[in-house]
Amino acid sequence: MNTRRDFIRNAIGMSGLLLGGSFLVSRCGNPKKPAKDAGESKKPVSCSDLSGISPEEIEKRKRLGYVDETPIADSNCGNCKLYLPPGKGESCGSCSLFKGPVEVNGYCTYYAPLS
Ligand code: SF4
Repeated sequence: MNTRRDFIRNAIGMSGLLLGGSFLVSRCGNPKKPAKDAGESKKPVSCSDLSGISPEEIEKRKRLGYVDETPIADSNCGNCKLYLPPGKGESCGSCSLFKGPVEVNGYCTYYAPLS
């Protein structure tokens, strides 16, 4: 005869099995696909990809007048004091004033030429 105590004991045991099973299944993915906790980051596909940027930062870019292609010859992010060049393996730089990818040939109203 099953008692209430047996029922609770069995329910706890089944919960443990389900949790353990789901953990194992989650760890058995495509071996070629890197794990999320193995350094995967949200690198933009192009310098125009703002998918990882907050709406506030996107608005800040607009307020500063950032454009991907400079309208002024010889004045661009690549020769601006505030430009941060791309890291190793990255194609987009960034700016000290806002978050998100920046084109080396971009420009904004805060352009500060290297002397
Ligand atoms: S301040 Fe403007 S021009 Fe200078 S790097 Fe940032 S976005 Fe480019």
